[in-house]
Formats: sequence, structure tokens, C-alpha cells
Amino acid sequence: MPQMTDERVRAGMNREEDLSLLNEVSMKTAGVSHLEMCIQCGTCGGSCPVAMDMEHTPRMLFAMLRAGMRDEVLRSNTPWLCVSCYHCVVRCPQEVHIADVMYTLKGMAIHAKLYTNATAPHFSQTFVDMVEAYGRSYEMGLATRHYLRHFPLRLPGMMPMGFGMITKGRMAVMPKRIKQMDQLTAILDRAKQLELNS
Ligand code: SF4
Ligand code: SF4
Repeated sequence: MPQMTDERVRAGMNREEDLSLLNEVSMKTAGVSHLEMCIQCGTCGGSCPVAMDMEHTPRMLFAMLRAGMRDEVLRSNTPWLCVSCYHCVVRCPQEVHIADVMYTLKGMAIHAKLYTNATAPHFSQTFVDMVEAYGRSYEMGLATRHYLRHFPLRLPGMMPMGFGMITKGRMAVMPKRIKQMDQLTAILDRAKQLELNS
């Protein structure tokens, strides 16, 4: 996937500066994002194991936020490729909470229906469904549902790996619900209620 060139980012930044999008993202991010502190040093992209496949490095994405490029940011594949490894967060000199901002952008892209490749959002939704049902991830169900939905022809090829993980005790065949699931359900219901009211 080609990355957006610095020239195109600069073209966006030549627009009159509009900090409303940056402020909106910062407000929606849990805790204090420090997003406005970004100095465009590029350490994040240089630390990121998946930057090569991102349409925009985190640094570029934050420059686009500062330029108010809402559609371009929310269409970017960058937040969806972020694997939350936190390498960038540890190395950022400004303590920008980059991974948390990526979560915020994913949510905004889903609400705005701007990210057109549904594969990653569906995977996230399936993960959430598993957590709501069992209180934890259920890898076997997650992988099976995802491949049946998006890559059914690849499913047979995945079976040897799945079998190997099961026999080595790395993956359970059946889901196991956590204890006191009712408490987690109450927390999740409250969080949904707060989101609706926000
Ligand atoms: S490492 Fe931090 S300060 Fe540097 S570009 Fe990335 S977010 Fe901005
Ligand atoms: S947290 Fe996301 S953006 Fe940061 S280095 Fe890891 S994959 Fe890249």
C-alpha cells in the first residue's frame, strides 16, 4: 500500500489551520492524549513494525489532523493496522498516547462509515462479541467466524495451524466463560449508556 508523500501532507497543511478535528480526537481519547504536543519528529513511524503497510505514518496522520483533513484521516488504513504494541508510545519524546489515539480514530471511522474495507472493523466487532459473550477472547471462534465471513476459501489452509495450536494447548476448542460474568456485563452496559449520552 503506497504511503502518502510528504508533499501531499504539506499540501493539506497549507490549508488554513483548523484545530477543531485535533481537539475533537483529543477529547474523545481516554485520559490525556498529548496530541497537541506532537513535534513531528517521526520517531513513532521509525519505531512502528507495521509502518511499511500504513497509508500514512502516525506522524503524517497527526499532521493531517492538525490540518483538519477529516475524510482523509478517517479513510486511512493506519489505525486499522496498528497492533497496539506501544513501541511508539514508549519512544515518543512528547509522550503522545499514539495507540490510544488510534483506537479513537477507529471508532470515529466506524461511526462516520468512512473506512471502506470492512474486514478490520468486522474483526474488531467479532472480538467485542466474544468478550461480551464470554468475558474474554475466544480465538477459535474469532478466527473461524472471521475466515468464514471474509476468506472462506482460505479456511482449509488454516486448519493445520489451528490443529497444531490446539494440540500444543495454545488455543481452546470450546469457549470458557469467566467467573462473575454478570459484573462485566454490568460494566459494559454502563459504558454503552455513557457513550450514548456523550
Ligand atoms: S514520536 Fe511523538 S512527537 Fe514524534 S511525530 Fe510521533 S507522535 Fe509526534
Ligand atoms: S502502537 Fe501502533 S502505531 Fe505504535 S508502533 Fe505499535 S503498531 Fe505502530
